[in-house]
Amino acid sequence: MNRLAVADAHVDVLYRMEREGCSFTDPASPLQASADKLQRGGVMAQVFALYVSPREPDVFQLETVLRQIDLFYEEIVQAGGVAPIRTLDEWIAARRSRNIAGVLSLEGGGCLRGQPELLRTLYRLGVRGIGLTWNHPNALADGCLESRGGGLTDAGWRVVREAHRLGMWIDIAHLADAGVRELLTHTNGPIMASHANARAIHGHPRNLPDDVIRELYARGGWMGLVFEASFVGDPANRTLDQLCRHLDHVLSLGGEDHVGFGSDFDGTTHPVAGLATAEDYASFTERLVQRYGRPLAEKLCFRNFESFLYRTLPRHA
Ligand SMILES: [Zn+2]
Repeated sequence: MNRLAVADAHVDVLYRMEREGCSFTDPASPLQASADKLQRGGVMAQVFALYVSPREPDVFQLETVLRQIDLFYEEIVQAGGVAPIRTLDEWIAARRSRNIAGVLSLEGGGCLRGQPELLRTLYRLGVRGIGLTWNHPNALADGCLESRGGGLTDAGWRVVREAHRLGMWIDIAHLADAGVRELLTHTNGPIMASHANARAIHGHPRNLPDDVIRELYARGGWMGLVFEASFVGDPANRTLDQLCRHLDHVLSLGGEDHVGFGSDFDGTTHPVAGLATAEDYASFTERLVQRYGRPLAEKLCFRNFESFLYRTLPRHA
């Protein structure tokens, strides 16, 4: 039987390349989602996050993002095997050539410092998604760990309007609940959660409540379950079985066409046992076939994310 193709909506490979000097292509690379490991795991589409540590002063954040974009083109794309995806035409070409489709997405809009014109420049460099915040507040909105729990600022709304005008998706993975609900109520553009689990199964602020998940599905959005153990369950319960309980739950809310995965490889502190690197997708996808049957497993592993891209990306440049 053919191995399943995988689409993964979140890794922090570029952060580790930029921060630690990790090689993407070295077979001995410590990266959890290195070229070899993606290959062996059957990953055919990978969203590469542009993440800047909140400890970095605001004024230097854009520089860090630009360095990571440069690493994407100079080291990942140049090495061959990963094709940059900015349009559906490029997606289709990557599928035909069996290249891994590589998409850039900004994780936290702090680097924009409230200026939508900077987002336009990032779009021209190939960035196709934006999460407004990481865990903390910035000029655009409150993150999910800010106890104030605020929504979007005026600058945040300007950035969201510009993102949707350009055809970028908004990623709600790290956003505070108030901002998530504002976006779902007041916008029509594409929204997804690149790496989050179900709060009904594990009550963590990084996980999504049921009403938000239902809204996301209803508007043609997408959510990727995350393998970071602390978002999966309590310390005694951070297993693959528990991750499957999240999957069962989000499917029970009507997620058959809207759910997939965003591993958080190279961004996790504690991965779930059995999902330590991208290579482990090979055994994980087999398990999904056994549990859900091949047609649904194919949707979860790849096709739902592909459909979301078809609803989001521009056809041509
Ligand atoms: Zn994250």
